[in-house]
Amino acid sequence: MILDKIKKVMLEKKDNIFSNEENITYFQLYTYILNLYIYLNTIKSENNKIIIYGHKSVYYIVCMLACAYSGISYIPVDVSFSDERIQDIINIIKPDLILNTITLKVENVNREIIVDELEKIMTEKSIEIELIPQIKPEDIYYIIFTSGSTGSPKGVQITYNNLDTFCNKIIAKFNIEESVILNQALFSFDLSVADIYLTLLTGSKYVMLTAKEIKDYPRLYKKIKENNVEVIIATPSFIEYLLVDRTFNEDNFRCLNTIFTCGETLTLNTVKKIKERFKNVVIHNAYGPTECTVAVTMETIHELPYKVPAGNYMDNTFCIVDDNLMRVSTQGNILIYGDLVSKGYINYPNEAFVEFEGKRAYLTGDIGYIEDNKLYYLYRKDRQIKLNGYRVELGEIESKIMSVESVSKCVATVKRNREGKVKKIIVYVVTKDTKEKLKEKLKNSISDYMFPEIKIVKKLPINENYKVDVKKIEEKIK
Ligand code: AMP
Repeated sequence: MILDKIKKVMLEKKDNIFSNEENITYFQLYTYILNLYIYLNTIKSENNKIIIYGHKSVYYIVCMLACAYSGISYIPVDVSFSDERIQDIINIIKPDLILNTITLKVENVNREIIVDELEKIMTEKSIEIELIPQIKPEDIYYIIFTSGSTGSPKGVQITYNNLDTFCNKIIAKFNIEESVILNQALFSFDLSVADIYLTLLTGSKYVMLTAKEIKDYPRLYKKIKENNVEVIIATPSFIEYLLVDRTFNEDNFRCLNTIFTCGETLTLNTVKKIKERFKNVVIHNAYGPTECTVAVTMETIHELPYKVPAGNYMDNTFCIVDDNLMRVSTQGNILIYGDLVSKGYINYPNEAFVEFEGKRAYLTGDIGYIEDNKLYYLYRKDRQIKLNGYRVELGEIESKIMSVESVSKCVATVKRNREGKVKKIIVYVVTKDTKEKLKEKLKNSISDYMFPEIKIVKKLPINENYKVDVKKIEEKIK
């Protein structure tokens, strides 16, 4: 399984550079993992769960792999999470330990290993011991938290078997050997699983982008150029962000040969732009929710299509069903089944996980159809949206705002561009507070990446069913 393969790569390609961060080699990576693995094996408990806190760094990757080899489930948490979300996660997980890869301390935690101590453990002189995976196929490998409509985040439990299947099905299709791979997604977002494991399984160089670097165009382009990036794994929103600058083209980025997108709709317009600027770049578009281990389909776009498929049907991992879970050949619910489907959420209602033709399945909430063996995504059935590639439940935002004492009513809506892509979240709130005061009150409860624009109103329009008329509000902000 993949942990054996990764160990082999780390030892066989030991002089390869793993990360440009201090030019860490694969052998150094191996010893850091081994040292932390030895330490973790001395503290294993029944609960067997560790939160990893921080932002993009080699130490973060070391923590993930050391947990995996030790058979401990890890929960990646990014610094951009609000204090309240971190607290919610701690309450749900009750972690044995928090491995903190940065200097900022996490509040209200029983046990935390902070970065200096972590560094000491990782860089100790290794004793002669072998790195042997302790994890079993059915064990939980990682738990990734996503937005939950009830206001509390939901932790998706992914097993070692799920991850192994993903790597064998999707990553193998890439057909990439040693390369330079760019990471955009946060480690708390499962798209990063694709870049981390593609890198490790091929002995490639990993180029991580921090949130600060992404915001700074000149620094961002310099980093991509100077590292001779060959493969970009990112959300379509990030690719569109890169394309805003006309200098993002093949004359300036000569090494770029592959773009892999996942997580939201890749529009025809974006595909056109990529093809105009990079004649020889291969585009892969993948589709899938966190609940089904990153992606379940992948489509390589050779010619400019007249519409963009979300993936190829050949893996036999999904189908379209009606509301009674019967297969249909028309447009309907996208249902995913088989080895990529998670064990379910931890301590959260699991009704979206169902049994289908004797197999474990997940009802995605996405509507789509199949044509020429290809999947086409149309829209969501519920109020889940994607903002800059991040999954957000509008219900979570409303629930956080409604928990502020001075708020009597609120509704979250979105503003979309002409292609239907969400540009921002706008909340209409009935409250005695000023906008600034409300913002201040919400700072600790709503994470940065999903923080909405606030509009204070005297009342909200009501429809004939005496419910807030969201449609009417959305019509207004079009
Ligand atoms: P996440 O769990 O953050 O990856 O979000 C999963 C959701 O993102 C899916 O249920 C879809 O609504 C959307 N999504 C993922 N990939 C695609 C794609 N290639 N095209 C359209 N929507 C996508």
